Amino acid sequence: MTGRKVTAEERAAYDLVTKRDDNRCVKCRRWCGRIERDHRQNRMPGNTVASNLQCLGEACHEWKTQHPTEALEQGWAVLRHTTLSPAEWPARRWLRTFWGTYRLAWVLYDDEGGWVEIDDVEAAFRRRKGGLP
Ligand SMILES: [Zn+2]
Repeated sequence: MTGRKVTAEERAAYDLVTKRDDNRCVKCRRWCGRIERDHRQNRMPGNTVASNLQCLGEACHEWKTQHPTEALEQGWAVLRHTTLSPAEWPARRWLRTFWGTYRLAWVLYDDEGGWVEIDDVEAAFRRRKGGLP
């Protein structure tokens, strides 16, 4: 954030995401370093919104930065040049099951700090439509 002004709207988005993700890494759900608010689609003007943010621990954030292709394939990133908004681009997330275990799901995030789950078929369809190579 150094040298960059954070607007009130951006601050609100960061807070929503911290709450939505329970301030935990959405990729590994474990302690993998200090929690950071990652831009799913690389930061650019106007995309610091809850649907484009996710909590990642330092190690997973670093992995994502170093493996952009894998991160995109696995659902931890949004394509930079796409006709879809981050809210329309499927994200991955671990969801708690009835039995207290966790399963990796596809979701669509909104800008109010919520999400809806979608199935694998819809996730694949949307990502293809969005231009996933
Ligand atoms: Zn992690």
